[in-house]
Amino acid sequence: MTLDCSIAKAIKFAEDRLISGDGGRLEAERLLAYLLKVERSYLYTWSDKRLTPTQWACFQQLLQRRARGEPLAYIRGWQEFWSLNLQVTEATLIPRPETEQLVELALQRLDLERAFNVADLGTGSGAIALAMGSERPRTRVIATDISAAALEVARSNGYRLGLDNVTFRLGDWFAPLAGERFHLIASNPPYIAEGDPHLTQDGLAFEPDIALIAKDKGLGAMRHIARAAREYLVDGGWLLLEHGYDQGPSLLALFTQLGYQQVTDFCDLAGLPRVVIGQWRAC
Ligand code: GLN
Repeated sequence: MTLDCSIAKAIKFAEDRLISGDGGRLEAERLLAYLLKVERSYLYTWSDKRLTPTQWACFQQLLQRRARGEPLAYIRGWQEFWSLNLQVTEATLIPRPETEQLVELALQRLDLERAFNVADLGTGSGAIALAMGSERPRTRVIATDISAAALEVARSNGYRLGLDNVTFRLGDWFAPLAGERFHLIASNPPYIAEGDPHLTQDGLAFEPDIALIAKDKGLGAMRHIARAAREYLVDGGWLLLEHGYDQGPSLLALFTQLGYQQVTDFCDLAGLPRVVIGQWRAC
């Protein structure tokens, strides 16, 4: 392709190289909009406009990164989650739309008018904590993560969004929460088994192992959280855990065996079992 390349031609060029089915064109437009610092609609209004040689060269570099599998969210440095634009880096998992189901289930249990204590364990970019905090301004949300680099991203997301009801603490799962009690504990912990072939697909290789992989066939972190949460929930408090597509039965059995009540597995919008919840009754 010559250097004299219009926006429309650049998008077509990219679409042909991105090989992601119907999403190729959208991806191409998102990359170009990111590079030109414009909205996607601009690309349609100005489709005949020429890219400068530098823009064209940069666009090709971005395309190469994307074609090698690097997720768009890492290339752009942000991802939309719930109604929030969140900064993401390679220290954080990229928040997924499925996780919005967990947020929705949490909000159904948090009355808007009341002030609850809520925890989000392994917060990554802060996605769950910030979504809950933005919808429930009276509720106090504490988010923990063992990764200082991830927590820094989460903190800066909270600061930028002005959500001062969400605070961030460094540490392993419940370690920074000693002695505290919560009305609701939510987590999207790592749940993929080591060596699972999915880890080489869909750009997962670019995401932090610590956010993806758990021991005991992927159930290790969830087992730890479900056991320990009983000491951190108020009477009647809820635990919500996101899980992998085939882990629902194990988690239903685990929650029941640990004494949780109203144990239910909810499906995501794709119809896959995704979030197990249970209520803790102290007696
Ligand atoms: N809670 C964050 C999210 O859902 C990070 C989860 C993780 O790192 N496993 O995106």
